[in-house]
Amino acid sequence: MSNTGLILRSTGSWYDVRNADGHVYQGRLKGKFKIKGLKVTNPIAVGDRVTFTVEDEIENTVVITDILPRDNYIIRQSVHKTAHGHMLAANLDQAVLLATLTLPRTSLGFIDRFLVSAESFRIPTAVVFNKSDILNEDGLAYQQEIMDMYEQIGYTCLATSAIEGEGVDAFRQLLDHKVTLLSGHSGVGKSSLVNAISPNLNLRTNEVSTFANKGVHTTTFAEMFELAPETFIIDTPGIKELGLVDTKKEEISHYFPEMRERLNQCRFHNCLHINEPGCAVKDAVGEGEIAESRYASYLSMMEGGDNRR
Ligand code: GDP
Ligand code: ZN
Repeated sequence: MSNTGLILRSTGSWYDVRNADGHVYQGRLKGKFKIKGLKVTNPIAVGDRVTFTVEDEIENTVVITDILPRDNYIIRQSVHKTAHGHMLAANLDQAVLLATLTLPRTSLGFIDRFLVSAESFRIPTAVVFNKSDILNEDGLAYQQEIMDMYEQIGYTCLATSAIEGEGVDAFRQLLDHKVTLLSGHSGVGKSSLVNAISPNLNLRTNEVSTFANKGVHTTTFAEMFELAPETFIIDTPGIKELGLVDTKKEEISHYFPEMRERLNQCRFHNCLHINEPGCAVKDAVGEGEIAESRYASYLSMMEGGDNRR
């Protein structure tokens, strides 16, 4: 009899497969799995829904027989364009980027590259600014300005303090009944915030490593945790940046929502929004309708010989 399950973890050859009752088996693949059109090194990713048959009840092992169609996925591209990428996770409801304006500082450039990646994979994204408690009045005002800027583009933003509890309820609501990719630099407070909303999970907090960092692997794998019923987070330890769906330079602006909505107002249909006359994007920057920082991120992505960085 065939069951369906959810992949919580992958080590490359073995997979943690969770069945509908929450029982977790050790699963492996048998036979060939080809994924049409996707150049990836791993056939199955965390978040994949699969069918399986129980192989050995006592050993708790199952054989994965098929992958169910994916809603979406994210890939980390390899450094070499020709080589295959690595599928990080599938079937995400959203991504949440955890950022801190200080200790450590998350740059706006980093936030923008993350948002562009998520746009390219069509994953809705929220930005959560943690450690609000250590900001002084000026810092808080700046944080509010940044949040307003991203909110205006359409990204949900939240200010939190895992230490003082500010915004923790809102963070819980943000994740509720969703599968969320939780990203952010090491030390921004991912484990602290997750522990604040799900104390029973008891993720390890520390100064340098992310909560699922096993410390010894050179290759890291994503892992999924159930925080509450039907509420999952996916942690991608050691993954600093996501890739982009195969993107031509002229398509980068499509992943900036505030540019995307103006593209057909440029004089030239193939406008790159750099120095062309009659460019609606540049006009909007000049009029303060598009943030300077966003446009700077756009230019830096256009300049990069490598789109993925
Ligand atoms: P992670 O690497 O993203 O999982 O970050 P951790 O949760 O391990 O937190 C890194 C450090 O920041 C720890 O010393 C936490 O106590 C501290 N920290 C986490 N959240 C906050 C916060 O909201 N305010 C302050 N002041 N410190 C925090
Ligand atoms: Zn233009």
